[in-house]
Amino acid sequence: MSTATKYGTVWFVGAGPGDPDLITVKGRGLVERAGAILYAGSLVSEAAMRWAPASCDIADSKDMTLEQMSAWLIERAARHEVVLRLQTGDPALYGTLIELVQPLDAAGIPVAVVPGVSSAMASAAAAVESFTLPEVTQTTIFTRVEGRTPMPAGESLRELAAHRCTLCIFLSITLLQKVEVGLREAGWPDDAPVLVVHKASWPGEERIVRGTLATIKQRCREAGIVSQAMVIASPTLGARGWPELAKSRLYDASFTHRFRKASA
Ligand code: SAH
Repeated sequence: MSTATKYGTVWFVGAGPGDPDLITVKGRGLVERAGAILYAGSLVSEAAMRWAPASCDIADSKDMTLEQMSAWLIERAARHEVVLRLQTGDPALYGTLIELVQPLDAAGIPVAVVPGVSSAMASAAAAVESFTLPEVTQTTIFTRVEGRTPMPAGESLRELAAHRCTLCIFLSITLLQKVEVGLREAGWPDDAPVLVVHKASWPGEERIVRGTLATIKQRCREAGIVSQAMVIASPTLGARGWPELAKSRLYDASFTHRFRKASA
């Protein structure tokens, strides 16, 4: 950049859940143009970096504090037109987006976000499951159980699970005991289906474990799954094999909507 006061843009780019092919076309285009990339080392597949130019200044943020990450991004934005913060899944979910944007705003650096395929969606895809089904549930909650980050009032799993909707539980594979307790307290039965997907979409590494509220902990222990996993509890799980399915009203012949007149 020509002057020290003119900054490039810092792009927060969702790299997707692991399969390098699941970054968006826009995200990939930015990787190809990036002067500098700060990536989230623990989860973002390094393969996503295969499109970065040879001259690109690339760093792994896994051993950095938030302050060090901000300082890194600010310094690079003074030298490059396109600077990327590449993060796993979608940047809007558990990604310290706001914590990193605030110091950039304070420094007067332009910021933009490119969404990514969240691991929640990749997990549903891996298992061929739908989070919503007509007359079963029309709601999905993205949550976690309490670890070191406290849960705000009203957001305990017991309270959320009382809705009997789909629950995508992030960051909780080592806390399956708490998941089990929360669901039980909300009245979910022993045989409620629970799905765990480890490394959803990672080529050759994805694993799917199916169980019930009563068995999932043991199944995951047997499979040795202790990290990078999505826990999904939902009344829709396994619907692919149900003999009777309430069809979506949108495709019902008696239902008029914007694109079609009812025939009956
Ligand atoms: N922003 C990310 C979530 C980051 S939090 C997203 O949208 O997916 C990290 C948590 O995401 C992990 O603890 C795990 O629960 C989940 N996760 C990330 N990648 C995953 C993958 N490929 N398969 C299953 N779960 C994954």
